[in-house]
Amino acid sequence: MNRQQNIDRIRMRTEPWDVVVIGGGATGVGCALDAATRGLDVLLVERNDFGSGTSSRSTKLVHGGVRYLKQGDISLVLEALRERGRLLENAPHVVHIQEFIVPCYSLWQKLFYGIGLKVYDTLAGKSSIGRSRILSINETIERLPGLKQDGLAGGVLYLDGQFDDTRLLIDMAVTADKHGACLVNYLGVESLAKDPDGNSIVELRDSIDNGSFSTSARVVINATGAFCDAVRHMSDHSAKPVVTFARGSHIVLSRDFLPTNAALMIPTTSDGRVLFCIPWLGHTLIGTTDVPCETAELGESVTDEEIDFLLETACSYLADQPTRDDILSTFAGVRPLVSRTDTTNTSKLSRSHELFIDRNGLVTITGGKWTTYREMAEQAVDAAIKVGGLNASECVTKTLAIDAPPASKGELLHSEMPYTTGDVMRAFNEEMAQTVDDVLSRRTRISFLNESIADELRTKVNEMA
Ligand SMILES: Cc1cc2nc3c(=O)[nH]c(=O)nc-3n(C[C@H](O)[C@H](O)[C@H](O)COP(=O)(O)OP(=O)(O)OC[C@H]3O[C@@H](n4cnc5c(N)ncnc54)[C@H](O)[C@@H]3O)c2cc1C
Repeated sequence: MNRQQNIDRIRMRTEPWDVVVIGGGATGVGCALDAATRGLDVLLVERNDFGSGTSSRSTKLVHGGVRYLKQGDISLVLEALRERGRLLENAPHVVHIQEFIVPCYSLWQKLFYGIGLKVYDTLAGKSSIGRSRILSINETIERLPGLKQDGLAGGVLYLDGQFDDTRLLIDMAVTADKHGACLVNYLGVESLAKDPDGNSIVELRDSIDNGSFSTSARVVINATGAFCDAVRHMSDHSAKPVVTFARGSHIVLSRDFLPTNAALMIPTTSDGRVLFCIPWLGHTLIGTTDVPCETAELGESVTDEEIDFLLETACSYLADQPTRDDILSTFAGVRPLVSRTDTTNTSKLSRSHELFIDRNGLVTITGGKWTTYREMAEQAVDAAIKVGGLNASECVTKTLAIDAPPASKGELLHSEMPYTTGDVMRAFNEEMAQTVDDVLSRRTRISFLNESIADELRTKVNEMA
């Protein structure tokens, strides 16, 4: 992927694109990949870096969502379990099967979670990745040596998927590029209008050189996640907001707190949610909270209260008690929740996605989960084809392999990180990284794993740009 070549491609284009996708998160890149592989001419623009929104800030689970099962949202769980199976098939280099253990402190809990997780297994049907089972006290301790053992009655083991969210995203972008999609980061949409032929005029701003120019499209897909109302407003000034926001925060600790390959699933926190402690890239990831926030921008900061809540909950389960000094990194993401009720408890609002088509033909796709990005993209592109009367072939992404990056070459960047100088060179030269942060946060995950190591490496990475 070459940014300058793609900008030249936009500037030289005289025909409207079939589709312009706004937003370079999981949903937008999924749409670009879907459209390109159906033979459509597609441009995707992202105002910051690819994945810099919610798509880099997930809990890294490719899952049906045990907690949605608890909420009775069976159709969301079924859809996500189907997509989990497809992701494991289509991107095995970055998505893997992960063991989760729910610790139980009474026989009743063993029975309750044992039955609940059997239902989860059954819902997976043909996409099953293995059966859940009840564990004895000894088996639970063997698999989760970092767990507090007082009062333990055993556990329930189940399987789900885990991934590196932006690694998959960048690989999807590279795959879309190979199929002819034109993707550009640091290029934001400033306004939308209609030309006399009914095409959309898309006003663009390049935040690297501050230049502005426009392009046109037969159909525009708005895949801007939590920011979708601002783009809906560009298309139709009378559009009413459709999303509210909730923040989910995480902390990252050393692997020593959970020195195992199994993840811990805490089924009921003090605020009635579920919490995960997951081994991730040689570290322990703990999350997430779920608190309402007023704006999408506020969704990306982790508060002291949330850190306290995550530490307190983890301390109730981990033998080695983490403190603030043990936190290597924190990150938060904002969920766009399509509000259909007037509830103030955001954890009860639906996580399913929604599709809107406004009176000017703008297709908006928002909400949903990383796990279900492919299905969301298929539906959005189907809608765009209908709105624009476009000539396209059938969707092929159910079985489309996502390109894996070549094996890392060069020296290790840091003894505690699994990345090499070759990864940095590839990020700058082939994966459209424009800044040191693009490399440290989203091509590699160093900033998400350990903020002080990321700071140490800034100068070295900058010298390789
Ligand atoms: C805390 C948390 C944990 C989660 N964990 C999981 C999980 O474990 N598993 C799972 O399946 N799902 C999870 N999710 C859900 C998942 O992360 C999201 O559903 C998904 O990332 C949303 O992707 P998106 O592309 O719709 O939005 P985003 O990733 O936010 O992308 C939207 C993009 O649009 C861009 N944009 C906005 N305005 C403009 C403009 N005018 N011009 C150009 N670009 C623009 C933004 O910069 C942004 O990059 C989690 C969500 C949260 C909040």
